[in-house]
Amino acid sequence: MNIVKMLLSLYLVLAVILAQFFAAYLYSKGRTNYRKAFSALVLCISIYLFGYLMIINSSNLEEMIFWNQIQYFGLPFISVLWLMVALLYTKTIDSLNNRLPLLLFFVPVLTFFIRLTNSWHHLFYTKWELRPLFGYNSLYMERGIWYYFNISYTILCLLFTVIIYFIGYLKNKVGYTKPHFFIFLFASLLPFIGIVLVIFTFQEWRIDYSAIIMPLSLLIISYGIMKYDFLEIRTLARETIFENNYAGMVVLGPGKRILDYNKAAERFFKTINIALSNSPLEHIFAREPQLLEIFQSEHSHDFSLVVDGEERFFEIDAVQLGDLYDGNTRMLKSIRDVTEERRIQEQLMLLATTDSLSGLYNRAEFMNLAQREIALAKSNNEELSLLIMDLDNFKLINDTYGHGAGDELIRKMGRMIKAGFRKSDIAGRIGGEEFAVVLKNASLAEAKIVAEKFRESVAGEKVIYGGQEISFTVSIGVAAIPDKSDDINGLEAILKMADDALYRAKAMGRNCVAT
Ligand code: GH3
Ligand code: MG
Ligand code: MG
Repeated sequence: MNIVKMLLSLYLVLAVILAQFFAAYLYSKGRTNYRKAFSALVLCISIYLFGYLMIINSSNLEEMIFWNQIQYFGLPFISVLWLMVALLYTKTIDSLNNRLPLLLFFVPVLTFFIRLTNSWHHLFYTKWELRPLFGYNSLYMERGIWYYFNISYTILCLLFTVIIYFIGYLKNKVGYTKPHFFIFLFASLLPFIGIVLVIFTFQEWRIDYSAIIMPLSLLIISYGIMKYDFLEIRTLARETIFENNYAGMVVLGPGKRILDYNKAAERFFKTINIALSNSPLEHIFAREPQLLEIFQSEHSHDFSLVVDGEERFFEIDAVQLGDLYDGNTRMLKSIRDVTEERRIQEQLMLLATTDSLSGLYNRAEFMNLAQREIALAKSNNEELSLLIMDLDNFKLINDTYGHGAGDELIRKMGRMIKAGFRKSDIAGRIGGEEFAVVLKNASLAEAKIVAEKFRESVAGEKVIYGGQEISFTVSIGVAAIPDKSDDINGLEAILKMADDALYRAKAMGRNCVAT
């Protein structure tokens, strides 16, 4: 047996086995259109290679023509599938269910039928012959018009494939997926070279160079798959999560250059007219020094921004990526819009600290704030007074006009207290119809004057409820922090004093102020 034929056969057998295995592997994992197209491509390649294997091992012309026909079950579709994989992989198209694939397959399908019916019209091959090559008979064919048309189409498809991968390679901003594009690019260039060789040398040599080169492409691609795992659903999932995350994400590589970013990040920066690029951060954030500082920092920051006249709050976090042993920063910056969160927090805070009826602080919050104020006044040696006010004969009002009237009175008191005292004073509803106010920087005498004025204004007010005018009065107890106080619990002491004063005011006949 001829040694060249033997080696070539061996090579093809291995290639067919590899291709079959690869097609099955891809098919079994093929959940995406991209993989399905890839699996179909590899299957077509293996049919084509198998046909070639059988041709060189055929003993007569008839057999050779038969196996050549078999080759055309796969051959016409290889280049168009190659292009399809490129279109899907680079996301140029995102589904096989649109019109473009159908259009692209028109010529290959036609080629298939023309080759099938060649004996009727000889459009594809005009002549078959056995000719000796390296000491054995090989198939020689004279090419017809459709052959040239088909090969032009094949070259066009492969050319587009190479261009698509090349553009993908150039445009790809993700450092770690760049090698994938490069491998695809390289693997697509090889059959291209094969076809060129076939066109210009086949006539003399009758060796199908693309059949010999195609397994190399497959090997390179399988190497790529093993090494970079780029067909893995995991990678796809991660990329999808990254790309569609509602948090904006920006990946910074060595030299704090932007390597990648997702849609949300793009949107975020678009609102402030910043275009992300691979330029140094100083250029990108030239007009936003605060953002520059945040992006250069390795810590988390808050950032706020007026969007459409509304202030929005963002949390910009930093996550280190990988080891830092080489001193090169790799960082993920995530930008989260926390405006709604902040609003809810504020509302919860409001609910937890205010009394819904009067709109003043509730008891717990009043105690907190009063305690803090008293401690502050003490350490600064400042004066501070406290009023406790209790509505007079409130039970009677409730009984006479109804509970609703009582509630209305409490609301009215809330409004009057808010209006009648300084903004800096702290006012709360500390019991049913009991209110307290901390007056900062006020002596006992001053506080008494303020209290007297307020009592008077309450006595002069009326509440209209259910068509009835209700007059009401308030009794007020006033106390101040003692000059030389070494009380441990300042608040309790002063509350007790004010409460005692209130008790006295009630005893004095109500609607009055006591200290
Ligand atoms: P005094 O002049 O001695 O303070 O007489 P008073 O009737 O106000 O005395 P007391 O403190 O015993 O009565 C308080 C009443 O306030 C008892 C309760 O029914 C009523 N009350 C407490 N909280 C509310 C409230 O939120 N709404 C209404 N409508 N009534 C309340
Ligand atoms: Mg009362
Ligand atoms: Mg009371």
